Amino acid sequence: MPHTATPRPPQSDGDLHLRFLERNREWSARMLREHPDLFAELARHQTPFALWIGCSDSRVPPDQITGTMPGDLFIHRNVANMVVHTDMNLLSVLDFAIGTLGIHHVIVCGHYGCGGVKAALGGEGHGLVHNWIRHIRDIYRLHRDVIDAIPSEDERIARLVELNVAEQVYALSRTSVVRAAWDAGRPVKVHGWVYGLHDGLIKDLGVTRTRYEPDIGPPPASPSGRAAV
Ligand SMILES: [Zn+2]
Repeated sequence: MPHTATPRPPQSDGDLHLRFLERNREWSARMLREHPDLFAELARHQTPFALWIGCSDSRVPPDQITGTMPGDLFIHRNVANMVVHTDMNLLSVLDFAIGTLGIHHVIVCGHYGCGGVKAALGGEGHGLVHNWIRHIRDIYRLHRDVIDAIPSEDERIARLVELNVAEQVYALSRTSVVRAAWDAGRPVKVHGWVYGLHDGLIKDLGVTRTRYEPDIGPPPASPSGRAAV
């Protein structure tokens, strides 16, 4: 759905769904022309290269920003790319990805300007989403000294975005699924990335975990030096 192909439809457009279906037919025809065997291959099985855990934000589409094709990424998304240990949805995805699909690369990808992280640095709210954002506020409490020492609000948000990703990488390393894979000698790597809305580039935070370590907390994410918020 190229940005230049069609003007952005208004939210009130009652026929929006019809346009999506029309574009789907166009996309399917184009894919068949460019990759004649793709659908037949994908209909038989999937062998994705990586599990992607990202934010639900519409501006961070995993396939497009990584230049991957259908079948390449197994994807889980939620607000602010969280790994919550009681989230059966996330745990089921993780277990299937590692245990059944045999994936060895798990990527947590946050993004600068994340609304969930911004909300966590704001005041207490009472909406349903604030129960979820509570997890990010806990991360802020863990790193409050570091974050509060940053004078710029944009930089504070950017730093919490990075720390949030590092914490989710750490949380993944404590899950029974990842620990069992490591115990079995499987080369599972858990990566922490942040995507820049302002330039479309992904930054590797250098917080990759490849083995179980004593309970010492997450490594600090590198200082961002920039903010796209
Ligand atoms: Zn977000």
